[in-house]
Amino acid sequence: MSFAVEKIRADFPLLSRKINNKPLVYLDSAASAQKPQVVIDSEMNFYRQQCAAVHRGIHTLSAEATEAMEKVRQKVAEFINAPMKENIVFVKGTTEGINLVANSYGRHFLKPGDNIIITEMEHHANIVPWQLLAKERGINIKVWHLIKDSGELDINQLANLIDERTRLLAITHISNVLGTINPISDIVTKARALAKKELVVLVDGAQAIMHQPVDVQALDCDFYVFSGHKLYAPTGIGILYGKSELLKKMPPWEGGGSMIDKVSLTKETTFAGAPGRFEAGSPNTAGIIGLGAAIEYVSALKLTEIQRYEQSLMDYALEKLKQVPNLIIYGREKNRAGVIAFNLGSHHSSDVGCFLDCHGIAIRTGQHCAMPLMEFYQVSTMCRASIALYNTHEEVDQLVRQLKYINTIL
Ligand code: PLP
Repeated sequence: MSFAVEKIRADFPLLSRKINNKPLVYLDSAASAQKPQVVIDSEMNFYRQQCAAVHRGIHTLSAEATEAMEKVRQKVAEFINAPMKENIVFVKGTTEGINLVANSYGRHFLKPGDNIIITEMEHHANIVPWQLLAKERGINIKVWHLIKDSGELDINQLANLIDERTRLLAITHISNVLGTINPISDIVTKARALAKKELVVLVDGAQAIMHQPVDVQALDCDFYVFSGHKLYAPTGIGILYGKSELLKKMPPWEGGGSMIDKVSLTKETTFAGAPGRFEAGSPNTAGIIGLGAAIEYVSALKLTEIQRYEQSLMDYALEKLKQVPNLIIYGREKNRAGVIAFNLGSHHSSDVGCFLDCHGIAIRTGQHCAMPLMEFYQVSTMCRASIALYNTHEEVDQLVRQLKYINTIL
């Protein structure tokens, strides 16, 4: 069965907008994906029909809102094949999920002199929280560098990086710049075999979750984080998956309502179990409902079908972009999903991005929250076109046509 992309596009109202009098060509979904009408409706329906504080009231609306939210927790667990809904913590996004692990697990279980491994292809969200922790706690950060020619990670390097003080590995599933799909399950197996003590692996799934099925049990990672807004869900909602034995022993990070068992001014305050212990304050209930709708939407289309379609579009785009004179593409062709980062001759990425915008084409330009990777390639910035389930071969053609045109006029 072929992928009905035109029908799918009709589900996304914003895609019919014109930008600078041209039909929008949205190639920036890796930054934030557009939302289908069902997701927009689900949020609106929540405010129209069910809006109330969750976990707090006995009245019908509060009970309904709580039930709707907890159903989404179950849905997320099934979506990533987590063993139980209690493995799922609602957070604001990938960034908050990583900060939660750094501040709870990291501060409590890592000791001065321990070390954390991060890779050279991480988003700042998976670098800076570890740097803050390292500085505060006297922890060392070891960098898993990329192979000079290919820009890939060599799994054999793990043997040089992991020692008796290595306690945590933080790695992206798919690079937001290179599109490289890292072989997480092999990496987890190898890292654990080399580790002398408990070594936990946190996977940044921000760029993977919308492109391929994710099975956290098959990956066997300890934590997996992602943001809803890249999965066609609203902004301000994300997921931290954690293995039960870890979530159980982790102390709270933020304090407040909902995360407690008993609060006392005379005795020690005690806390709720996971995941409630990590969800202080009123949650983004509308966002959670929207995330549930987005998961239903992509599940109905089937992630394996989305993956197949996007892969064919990626192959097509790489082939076509090779025909643009002076275009440098970063990263390898194989094992790649979602994004194509490039530079066009000596043109600054901002100039390329502005020109494309005049023609209705939205791409991302700049450092992509990955300054170490810019340094690796010795460039100040890059352009990045990203591929989502609603993009078409014609849109790729338009990008290629305009890039060729830039070559002739700038
Ligand atoms: N990690 C990666 C690989 C990303 O691409 C992004 C966002 O672009 C993030 C983390 C941060 O996500 P958020 O800003 O939604 O928290």
